[in-house]
Amino acid sequence: MDKKKVAIIGAGISGLTAAYYLKKAGIPFTVFEQKKFAGGVMQSKTDGTFLYETGPNSGVISHAELADLFCDLNGKCELELANEASVKRLIWQKGKWTPLPSGLFSAVSTPLFTLKDKFRVLLEPFRKKGNNPNENLAELVKRRLGKSFLNYAIDPFILGIYAGDPNYIVPKYALPKLYNLEQKYGSFVGGTIKKAKEPKTENDQKATRKIFSVKGGLQNLIHALVEEIGPENIQYQSDVKFTDHRFTAIKQGKQETFSHVISTGTATSLPELFPFLSESDLQNITVLKYAKVVEASIGFKIWQGIKLDAFGGLVPYIENKNILGVLFMSSLFENRAPKEGGLFTVFVGGMRKAYLADLPEDKLKAIIADDFKEMMGLEKFHPDLFELNYYNQAIAQYGSDSEARLAAITQIEKEHKGLYLAGSMRDGVGIADRVKQGKELALQIVNQS
Ligand SMILES: Cc1cc2nc3c(=O)[nH]c(=O)nc-3n(C[C@H](O)[C@H](O)[C@H](O)COP(=O)(O)OP(=O)(O)OC[C@H]3O[C@@H](n4cnc5c(N)ncnc54)[C@H](O)[C@@H]3O)c2cc1C
Repeated sequence: MDKKKVAIIGAGISGLTAAYYLKKAGIPFTVFEQKKFAGGVMQSKTDGTFLYETGPNSGVISHAELADLFCDLNGKCELELANEASVKRLIWQKGKWTPLPSGLFSAVSTPLFTLKDKFRVLLEPFRKKGNNPNENLAELVKRRLGKSFLNYAIDPFILGIYAGDPNYIVPKYALPKLYNLEQKYGSFVGGTIKKAKEPKTENDQKATRKIFSVKGGLQNLIHALVEEIGPENIQYQSDVKFTDHRFTAIKQGKQETFSHVISTGTATSLPELFPFLSESDLQNITVLKYAKVVEASIGFKIWQGIKLDAFGGLVPYIENKNILGVLFMSSLFENRAPKEGGLFTVFVGGMRKAYLADLPEDKLKAIIADDFKEMMGLEKFHPDLFELNYYNQAIAQYGSDSEARLAAITQIEKEHKGLYLAGSMRDGVGIADRVKQGKELALQIVNQS
């Protein structure tokens, strides 16, 4: 079989992006999706009053591929950038919200960091470069910046992206840009300044720190991709598995052969999908940990709490509260709640409070209500929307097992040419990372002779 024909496992944003660029190049493919619908965790909902996300809430345009995807889909769905408020981030400290410093003056005056650590930052450019590629984030930050920066800047930041534990996360794999600042320039502060002065390629310029969603909700990006891909090319409720021989897909007794397979599901889905891969082939991949998360959508027709002039607030672990953070969704994007109202997303669980994500709905709602009321300045908690969505394997955690995992993936892909073990088990967990990976894999296949 010399003609290319690609099987894509999963109709989330990773799989759909790969499918979209294969379609553009005229390469035949089938997307196999086990659920009844596309989008994976990216789902938007409306109850007629609120428009809310039940998975990712927004993304950062951190890769050119994401900006390009929106250009390619021009007219099919509309990018929505978060309004100005999104630059302000709040951190919960000693019973109140404090803005994360955004400039020199606020960095000097903020109560978030100790005086000692503020002085330490001045010396950061002169500190020795680390040489342990598996050093965890907590160690790295304590070594370069100090404990208060870890507790009140980096810890909440890593909660916001990974629902993770800085003592587990390894920057080389989880935050490669940060890791490279130290490795390439010897310092976070100096590296940031030097990097800003370097000439930017066209792709560098497309990648920004802007926060985005899509008009009408992120799901409109999914609808646009499905429309472009052709709904007939997606098989829902699929229980496909593959044999090695030219990747023969077996589903409901029928067989179909593919030249390439891209899998985008979780690490734990691999043994069933690819029974020809041995347990020892996969053992360094299937051990990948995922954070459990519960996402609560909370809406009020009339908002009577604190001023919502920020992206939202994050709650450092050291503060000993139950919720991980609150996003002020109706301040970021248009038409999410009535004009006088408010729409919020609250996250619970994560690596260090996974037990909360195991609680039944009534118990968890009561816990969320207590924290929300206190933090958001409400006398009473009577929301018009209060919905929980549970995720057992929400976010992959790139820890010190990453080197072995990536090596195992490379080895399998070498031995089974045409097989790509993708999805968030590698290359980043954000929406932009997923789009970049999907596009790059599709183009690799397109460009293979
Ligand atoms: C609660 C939550 C909040 C998040 N918030 C943000 C955020 O605010 N910003 C951000 O950038 N990122 C966020 N993320 C991460 C981001 O949403 C994800 O990385 C991204 O959407 C994942 O896309 P994906 O296509 O890789 O995976 P998924 O969306 O998980 O899609 C994978 C698809 O594969 C299917 N599948 C799996 N196994 C099989 C199989 N054997 N056969 C057929 N189909 C299969 C699944 O059913 C699913 O539809 C969040 C994630 C979660 C869970």
